[in-house]
Amino acid sequence: MGNKQRVVVIGGGAAGFFAAIRCAEVNPHAEVLILERGKEALGKVKISGGGRCNVTHACFDATELVKRYPRGSRELLGPFHRFGCADTVAWFEQRGVRTKTEADGRMFPVTDNSQTIIDCLWDAARKAGVKILLQQRVEGILPPSGKQPAWTIRTKEQLIYADQLMLATGSSTTVWEWLRELGHTIVPPVPSLFTFNIKDPRILGLEGISVPNATTTVEGEKLTDGGPLLITHWGMSGPAILRLSAYGARLLADRQYNFHLLVNWTGQSSDAAKALLENCRKNEARKQVLPHPMFGLPARLWRSLATAAGLYPETKWADVTKLQFQGLFAQLTAARFPVTGKSTFKEEFVTAGGVSLREVNFKTFESKLLPGLYFAGEVLDIDAVTGGFNFQAAWTGGWIAGEAMGTR
Ligand SMILES: Cc1cc2nc3c(=O)[nH]c(=O)nc-3n(C[C@H](O)[C@H](O)[C@H](O)COP(=O)(O)OP(=O)(O)OC[C@H]3O[C@@H](n4cnc5c(N)ncnc54)[C@H](O)[C@@H]3O)c2cc1C
Repeated sequence: MGNKQRVVVIGGGAAGFFAAIRCAEVNPHAEVLILERGKEALGKVKISGGGRCNVTHACFDATELVKRYPRGSRELLGPFHRFGCADTVAWFEQRGVRTKTEADGRMFPVTDNSQTIIDCLWDAARKAGVKILLQQRVEGILPPSGKQPAWTIRTKEQLIYADQLMLATGSSTTVWEWLRELGHTIVPPVPSLFTFNIKDPRILGLEGISVPNATTTVEGEKLTDGGPLLITHWGMSGPAILRLSAYGARLLADRQYNFHLLVNWTGQSSDAAKALLENCRKNEARKQVLPHPMFGLPARLWRSLATAAGLYPETKWADVTKLQFQGLFAQLTAARFPVTGKSTFKEEFVTAGGVSLREVNFKTFESKLLPGLYFAGEVLDIDAVTGGFNFQAAWTGGWIAGEAMGTR
């Protein structure tokens, strides 16, 4: 191997590229290699954000940022102080990629094209002298031993030796299996960021309708979230559902995605909603209920919920019985829907689970058990809600691990 330090990164995704580039920039004398099994690298970047790549989020305070990570929030606080969203923006800007922020805080390249990010990463890697080998599926790794003081990496064609090794292999179950054999704890993987399958007459035919501020709760659990909710032809989606799926990833997997969802459609607390309904009943006695939606709800959804509460098209507020009133209040503030499964969200899905965070030093992203082995990105038990936060974890981890490998 000669005197040159060799650093091998397995996985040519977001985390792998960032780590390799940083490492090569910090230590221009090191030989830095990315081994990628695919014909192309950065495959997920390509399809991310509907082809636009939601590269990060306009959240520039580390304490706020960590709140978006159902798993990893404690561990990422220090790393985000070192390399946060503003650093990501600056990193790409310095390399000629301008970004823009959308109303909800998501950040994209101004070109609205993920290829811009891919081109930038390839270019930065080439300039830093990183070697990228495609179609190099790694089939096994061996830690240094008395006989062989370097890491041994086995591909189909060759053995490669490395002074330092980084695993940026995303959610590869094979890699997790190797790590388990090497003594690491792997938190069992379960999907995160999915939508709910619901067959219910109240939302039948209402696909495409959305509510700007619904509160969603898993019945019987403390699990609750809020935000825009979208009715789909298979059930429900939108941020209020996706966030619930992320925070409840493990719990909902344990329940095999069978549970009851409670929806407050009104954007108000149930007390405030009740007061408004009572006010209407008192002061708008002659008005028919069904044709006049409240709480800014779409007319068809309002009609459907009111009908489910036993109201008729011609019922006036004055004629609403106590039982109907209670029913309407319940349909609006705690409508109970049976969830019978999940579907993949088209824009973004991630895996919760991976290398246990207790076994990683977050100052360097190095294994506490196997010196010279580093991790970043989805291989770790870290994941976030949608909005560019998953890439941010990959950029941050990759950058810090790269710096650590380069300065070691
Ligand atoms: C459809 C979709 C859209 C998304 N959109 C967004 C978005 O807009 N914003 C956002 O923040 N997040 C998004 N995400 C999530 C984001 O893509 C991931 O969090 C991120 O790609 C993780 O990066 P990574 O480098 O850890 O893993 P990956 O990107 O999965 O890269 C791992 C790489 O390792 C390679 N590899 C694995 N095993 C081996 C092996 N044995 N030998 C050699 N190579 C190997 C793989 O081929 C792969 O290229 C999206 C996810 C999906 C599925």
